[in-house]
Formats: sequence, structure tokens, C-alpha cells
Amino acid sequence: MPTMRAVQVSQPNGPFEVVEREIPTPGPGWVRVKVEACGVCHSDMFVRAGAFPGMTLPRIPGHEIAGTIDRVGDGVHAWKAGDRVGVGWHGGHCFQCDPCRRGRFINCVNGKVTGISHDGGYAEYAVVPAESLARIPDALSAIDAGPLLCAGVTTYNALRNSGARPGDVVAILGIGGLGHLAVQYAARMGFRTVAISRGADKATLARELGAHEYIDTQAETASEGLQRLGGADLVLATAPSAEAIASTVGGLASRGKLLIVAAPAQSLSVSAMGLLSGKTVAGWPSGSSIDSQDTMAFSALTGVRPRTETFELDDAERAFHHMMENKARFRAVLVP
Ligand SMILES: [Zn+2]
Ligand SMILES: [Zn+2]
Repeated sequence: MPTMRAVQVSQPNGPFEVVEREIPTPGPGWVRVKVEACGVCHSDMFVRAGAFPGMTLPRIPGHEIAGTIDRVGDGVHAWKAGDRVGVGWHGGHCFQCDPCRRGRFINCVNGKVTGISHDGGYAEYAVVPAESLARIPDALSAIDAGPLLCAGVTTYNALRNSGARPGDVVAILGIGGLGHLAVQYAARMGFRTVAISRGADKATLARELGAHEYIDTQAETASEGLQRLGGADLVLATAPSAEAIASTVGGLASRGKLLIVAAPAQSLSVSAMGLLSGKTVAGWPSGSSIDSQDTMAFSALTGVRPRTETFELDDAERAFHHMMENKARFRAVLVP
């Protein structure tokens, strides 16, 4: 049996081990992707911790997969060997539950997660359901496509579904893995784009990414900064800090919306009184494969690109810690 190199977690709390595994064969409705790049995401910590509902170990993590199809299973007609494809967090759906019948595949009650329900992209090959595939445009390299499949689609799809309109004041909280893409998307979508982070040194970066304004929360609170700009119609929270997220509510304009795509471990504390001018606090669930495809097409069209650092599979452990310690500038990508 031919084998491949892969990185797996075999016990809770890791480590990531480099192993030889049999190259998997796609069953009916699935395809095999030769992985060319796979981004390292904060959510890969669920695999490392061995703590996600229904997940079993060993498991190969990775849900920012970019590569080329090298084999299709029976019944797959929309895709063929040689197609360049990406696979994100949304790893498949049942087509039969009520949310699926309404076309809300991301909310499927039997939904699969790439790299959690089945093995992901920290490997030379990955086998995935055909409905989880997104087409990669020619203009995007695999290394650039990888991070767009989770960090990218999460922010792009949240922004385009937020209700914000061209010219609105849209603030992006955090300019890390998600935030550095969100700032680019918001500016390209025609919003008056405000980046919020800590430290005066980030102002230059924020403007390079396209932000029109920068709020340094070491110099003023997020609320003060946003009020100075007339209040935000939308805050997109990408930094996983409950305190930082809650601190933006006072900076929303009346009828403004706080939209959360980060996953802080702590609960959010928000004054109910402060919401009575019609403010909303909501979350957004990334997107399904066609949303990923739209994200990549928009990125190719408008020049949005992730900033990446690449690592070999052998360095997955180092890449993961680099990301968790917030040292990655801005997205770590494994290249098998
Ligand atoms: Zn992710
Ligand atoms: Zn379903």
C-alpha cells in the first residue's frame, strides 16, 4: 500500500506527530485532494486538545486545505482530477435536515467539520466530501488560497451578510489572522474602514491593509475612539477576547451591530441598557463551500491576499505554537 506523510494527534493535548499513513481512497461522493498548502487555524486547538463533540483520535487536523484533485469517487460529476480546489471548516452536510432543506448548509444539524469529523489537510493527501469543495481561481497560489478557506471566508462572508452599506463606518477589532483579511475586505467593499488594535506601531500596518482610520486601545478605549468617529455602524470582532469585544458596544452608533466571528472562552458581559438604542449583538458561522469560492473570487478580483509564513509538515508543532502565541505574521501555512 502506498503511504503518505501526515501530522496527527493521537492523544488529548498533543503533540502533533509526523507519521506515515496509508494514502486514503475516496468512497462514493468523496474526492481525494493532493494537498499543496494547509493553513494553521486557532480552531486546530480543538483537535490538539482532543475536545470537540463527536471527535475521535487519532485525527489529522487542518481545515484550510488548498490543492489539486487527483481522484474522484463514484457519483462525483461536478469535479475531475486536475481541478484546483480548496476545503474549509465546513466539511459536508446531509442535504436532508430542515436547515439543509432551507439551503442553510452551514447550519446542518449533521454537518461535518474538515479535520475534525474526518481527517484534514496536515498531510500530503486528504479525502473529503465533494460538497465541501471550492474552486480556486488561477490568480491565487495554493499558499494564498489556504488561509482564505477559514480566516478569509469567515470575515468576507460575515461582512457581506452584515447589512452594512457602502460608506458605513465598519470597525474591525483585531488585526491578526482573521483581522488582517477583514480590514482588506472591508476597505474593498467600500466601507469607511476602522482598524482597532493595541499599540501605536500597528497604525502603519492597518493603513497598508486599507484602513482609513486606526484606533490604538493603549491610547484610548475602543468606545472612545469609535465615538470620536461618529459611532460604528458595524463592529466585526475577530480577536478572541471577551473583554475587548464587549468594550466596543459603547462605540456602536444607534442601530449599530456587533458581529462576532472570534471564539473567546469566556462569556461576554454587555449592559442591556446600552443596547436599547437598537444595537444588536450577533455571531456569524463562516460559510459553506460556495461562500469560500466567492471569497477566493473576490480576493482574486480585488487583490486581497493573506500575509503568510510557511512551514514544512515536520514543523507543524512549531507552526501551531507560533500561531497560538500570536507570533505568526499573520497566518502560518504548512506546505507538505
Ligand atoms: Zn479555522
Ligand atoms: Zn443537514
